[in-house]
Amino acid sequence: MTRRYDVLVVGAGMVGAAVGCALGQQGIKVALFDHALPSAFSPEQPPDLRVSALSPSTEHFLRDIGAWSLMKAMRMCPYRRMAVWEKLHEPLTGKEVQQRPNQTLFDCRDLPADQLGFIVENRVTQLAIHQVLAGVESVDLYCPASIDRINWAAGKATLTLKDGEIFEAPLVVGADGAQSKVRQLAGIGLHSEDYEQQALVATVEIEPGQLDITWQAFTPTGPLALLPLPDIDGRSYASMVWYNLPEQVQRLKSLPDEDFLKEMMQTYPVELPVIRRLLERGSFPLTKRHARHYVKPGVVLVGDAAHTINPLAGQGVNLGFQDAATLVALLTKAYKNSEPFGSLAVLNEYERIRRPANRKMQWAMDAFYYTFSNDNAPLKLLRNIGLTVAGRFTPGQKQVMKYAMGLKDV
Ligand SMILES: Cc1cc2nc3c(=O)[nH]c(=O)nc-3n(C[C@H](O)[C@H](O)[C@H](O)COP(=O)(O)OP(=O)(O)OC[C@H]3O[C@@H](n4cnc5c(N)ncnc54)[C@H](O)[C@@H]3O)c2cc1C
Repeated sequence: MTRRYDVLVVGAGMVGAAVGCALGQQGIKVALFDHALPSAFSPEQPPDLRVSALSPSTEHFLRDIGAWSLMKAMRMCPYRRMAVWEKLHEPLTGKEVQQRPNQTLFDCRDLPADQLGFIVENRVTQLAIHQVLAGVESVDLYCPASIDRINWAAGKATLTLKDGEIFEAPLVVGADGAQSKVRQLAGIGLHSEDYEQQALVATVEIEPGQLDITWQAFTPTGPLALLPLPDIDGRSYASMVWYNLPEQVQRLKSLPDEDFLKEMMQTYPVELPVIRRLLERGSFPLTKRHARHYVKPGVVLVGDAAHTINPLAGQGVNLGFQDAATLVALLTKAYKNSEPFGSLAVLNEYERIRRPANRKMQWAMDAFYYTFSNDNAPLKLLRNIGLTVAGRFTPGQKQVMKYAMGLKDV
């Protein structure tokens, strides 16, 4: 038996689940597929390793689909300030400047706003969207489901699962992450570029007191970041991100907990909170990817399936949710006008809006990363002169950072 839908969404991660949910809320018939769903949440669980800084535009979108209040009821941590350091050296003598500028770059009170954003565990976001989805009648979730093949012909896509079940729809949404099978099956090429470094992420328990500030330090070996996490049962936590060369990351990962923490504390600025305990650590390769097309007749890519960026300023899934919001608005319009979902007349508009926005963020992130995270002598001299003399970031630098951190739309 062939099951027929308006849209087939492959990948029920944060972005795919949001697309399915928002389309379903408009009455559009959606089939959503994934290999597996995350385990259930319970409040006493320690924080997960995978967390994301969610921007105000993401909050807005997730509020609209009804997931935000559920996320809040689980847990999330607002951050109200952002601070940045660089280990400075005298421009001419090369001597380290002892007093590092500890700059509070952005404070929500200056915007004004109650916070700059929230740090949320990816699982919390995904589970909340799935809770909403469970009440949306026009969405069917198929999980576990394994895609065998997809054929596009005569204005419709036919998707066959490995167990032989067949689904048909005018449109397939590829929301299946960086290694997207939909992208491969649709024959959409990829521009891909590895950064030299990897990100080592560690969840740590810190001295009591929930933080409301994110910290970034720029060192010659790469950036370091500390993100606040919500308190759990009176204990405070943080997520630390340490960029380094792959061989260094492997060495750090293999150290016993105590040695790892010792090295981390020697590397991080002394002003950061005291770390009490390591809960978990893991590493992530850093690759910038951009699909050569986001759309083809009968197929559209969203989220990491379409693009991945350097996670330095935490924008990847925020861009994915912007893709989702744009696509849902266009498909809803097409639905109301009885236009065919899979036609390029509908889909090209999505690519026209989203590609330049995503590319711009990739460029901003690279500018940020390569300017601040390397040992290139002329750049370092410029940075040091700029930062040592001025002792603060210029308005222009602040604007770039504001954009790169998702606090500004242009
Ligand atoms: C270290 C690190 C830190 C980050 N920090 C931030 C941050 O602070 N803020 C931010 O905005 N972003 C951040 N990101 C980026 C963010 O994690 C990703 O952009 C986001 O997870 C992408 O979501 P997605 O739903 O597009 O893809 P994914 O999360 O990869 O979800 C894809 C889904 O598709 C499913 N799937 C895959 N293949 C198939 C298949 N063949 N059939 C069925 N299902 C399939 C998977 O099971 C999964 O559920 C960070 C990334 C890294 C590596």
